[in-house]
Amino acid sequence: MKLFDQPNSLKEHLEKHISKHAKLGFVPTMGALHEGHISLVERSIAENEHTIISIFVNPTQFNKAEDLNNYPKTLDADLEKIKTLDSQSLLVFTPQAADIYTKTFSKKSYDFGGIEHEMEGKYRSGHFDGVATIIEYFFHLIQPNNAYFGEKDYQQYLIVKKLAEQQFPAIKIVPCDIFREKNGLAMSSRNLRLSDEARQNAGIIYGTLLEVKNRLYKQPINRIEEYVEKTINNQKKFELEYFCIADETSLKLVKKLAPKKNYRAFIAVFVEGIRLIDNIALKEN
Ligand code: AMP
Repeated sequence: MKLFDQPNSLKEHLEKHISKHAKLGFVPTMGALHEGHISLVERSIAENEHTIISIFVNPTQFNKAEDLNNYPKTLDADLEKIKTLDSQSLLVFTPQAADIYTKTFSKKSYDFGGIEHEMEGKYRSGHFDGVATIIEYFFHLIQPNNAYFGEKDYQQYLIVKKLAEQQFPAIKIVPCDIFREKNGLAMSSRNLRLSDEARQNAGIIYGTLLEVKNRLYKQPINRIEEYVEKTINNQKKFELEYFCIADETSLKLVKKLAPKKNYRAFIAVFVEGIRLIDNIALKEN
């Protein structure tokens, strides 16, 4: 494992030591690594000769200073986890905000055809401009062949795919399955901030999504929405921010299902004030 904390030193290393003919995989993260992140890194290691993992808590994608300040930072433990991976070819990039955001580089704004305004875009103003700004920066710097994104942040994956179509057609954006805790809770760095009791109870979020899938073709969508609201808000210290069923590609919300369309259900819940998101594909098995 080789560690870089300066963009220039990473760039120099890539130019000098990584052949243009070797496949380079990239896994961007904000650290506090868990098995979900590690599964992305392992996939990249399996599919590429070299893998870069970035650990950078990107300030421009947080819409609340408090959320940024409270975001878990566990760099030493993260590096220990990465060291255990069976790879000679891992590069780890750990810049600081001041190394990236300078007088000449700041948050940009983007047009992704509307998907950026739904769900997370609606509830976290400016979030996707911050995400796209940092991913564009990393893609320019690293120029990977493959970049790995978790479906846990499905809307983010779609946005990055659009960004790549618009600006980086040579980069393949690879969607990766959601890793879950034993009780079904989607793994997230934010889970570290939950009490043991809440973390246990939060399995109900995925349980509710599974039940949504079960009810989809049996009940009208507004009844399903009522079911979700009641189930989540009945839990102690849980507050539903949004639940919706949307077209898997356009992310347009739907109130009535049409044939031959693929849908996903999306949910955001505050648990003890910590914001958790999850989603599920609603294709019939
Ligand atoms: P983050 O550190 O939360 O920005 O996540 C970095 C990458 O890991 C993103 O592509 C996430 O979608 C992905 N990721 C986060 N949690 C999970 C999970 N539970 N399963 C799969 N991928 C995940």
